[in-house]
Amino acid sequence: MKRQVKHIRWIGFAVLAGFAVLAAVIALFRGPNRLENASDLYPLQSAVLITIDTLRADSLGFSGHPRIRSPVLDRLSQRSTVFSEAYSNLPLTLPAHSAMFTSRFPVEMNVRTNFDYVPDGYVRLPEMLRDLGFRTAGFPQAILSFPRGTHVGFDMYDKMDLNDRKTVPNTKRIPNPRVLMEAKSRNIMIEEERIERVITWVRERDQRGEKYFLWLHLFEPHAPYAPRAPYRYLDPLVSNESTDDVIYRLSSLWRVKGHAFSDEDQNVSRRLYANEIVWTDGLVDPLLRFLTYQTRDHPFIMITSDHGECLYDSADYFGHGYSLLREELHVPMLIHDPRPVADRTSRQPVVSSQRIQSVDVSPTILGALGLSPPDRFRGRDIRDLSDPDRLIPCSISTIDSLVGIVGPAGILTLNPSSGEWTLTSTEDPEGTGFMSSDKSLPDFLQPMMALALEYASLNSSSMQTETAPPEDPGFMDMLKNLGYLQ
Ligand SMILES: [Zn+2]
Repeated sequence: MKRQVKHIRWIGFAVLAGFAVLAAVIALFRGPNRLENASDLYPLQSAVLITIDTLRADSLGFSGHPRIRSPVLDRLSQRSTVFSEAYSNLPLTLPAHSAMFTSRFPVEMNVRTNFDYVPDGYVRLPEMLRDLGFRTAGFPQAILSFPRGTHVGFDMYDKMDLNDRKTVPNTKRIPNPRVLMEAKSRNIMIEEERIERVITWVRERDQRGEKYFLWLHLFEPHAPYAPRAPYRYLDPLVSNESTDDVIYRLSSLWRVKGHAFSDEDQNVSRRLYANEIVWTDGLVDPLLRFLTYQTRDHPFIMITSDHGECLYDSADYFGHGYSLLREELHVPMLIHDPRPVADRTSRQPVVSSQRIQSVDVSPTILGALGLSPPDRFRGRDIRDLSDPDRLIPCSISTIDSLVGIVGPAGILTLNPSSGEWTLTSTEDPEGTGFMSSDKSLPDFLQPMMALALEYASLNSSSMQTETAPPEDPGFMDMLKNLGYLQ
């Protein structure tokens, strides 16, 4: 659908101060009370969260991608609920995962970048479950393998060799594609072994009758897009270069904002990204088969992503963490409840268009386990949430400090320093028919503007707090080699 972007310049903040107050009063971040879930006949013993990094919502078979085939996830989706309107609260890996585990907005924890640290004082889902007698294991990758706060509460926090400092030397030229490619190749070699370790861990819990919470983080299809054979060599990519040379050449450019990609390089990049997804889909096959067929107590399964990926479509880069475009915020969300549902006969996904967000992950998992979330959680149990007007706050501060609200009208973004508002509507171009540079703003935008101001206030007040993490040279090298740090 043709994207319409309209800019509203708005100077008089005072006009809307009243809306900010109103916003607080109506408990902005919450929707109506959750309804009784028909499948809550008995609580589940265990839960599994799988986060597939950098996975756009529209990049899977079940979400309607015209060419990408994801048969494993598609098969699971047929017995699951798929949320078509799931969004990241901050499109970067550490902030988004911290929102999932704490059910608090990244900005209020002062977690805005991958350099930050989730401070003490915010209770994390694995911590709560461990204290209730669950066994907890996290299998993270890349930057999440470092103890930046997402490790709290896990009995076991499995590291992989990509984070072995020997594999990521301190490079002088950053990012060094060959070093990165070597590290990533090693990563890929290790992935299948890692899945085996995950299965072994679950099997032991299951055989002992222990309840558990498992988190698996898969780093692909994060850039560099370097799928493994056979997905690496499906067909000739370009006429004059080998696939390896193409990947090496492009891997130092993908995260460069403003680089002019040829049409051919754009197409190649998108195909490589797609092929990484196909590979990842196959990777999780043995784990999902085990969880859904071979365990005594089938767990609740949630699969989502921390953020999407801009593929040089709405903006001039391949990557994420730069803006609040839909491509970066919109993620897949699938929940699989193994308990029988009486009225479910067809093998089609139940699709919900309920708008949901990263902070909903923890309350939903708690709910599935028959546990109540703490009042201080920002998110909601999404299983029976029904609120078509629900607004999703998000932010980014990599280039400009922006706050945004995802709502029925699209994504409304505020640049607090310039006072500029931008509305990006993907759903209803006719519904954005207001004049730019006009202070008389349409009524339908006012709830979103009020929440944006509230969120901007939350953002700026928490910026004052210091959450200095322990610096780790290996962690900094990792960020440099992934292109986050120049
Ligand atoms: Zn990520």
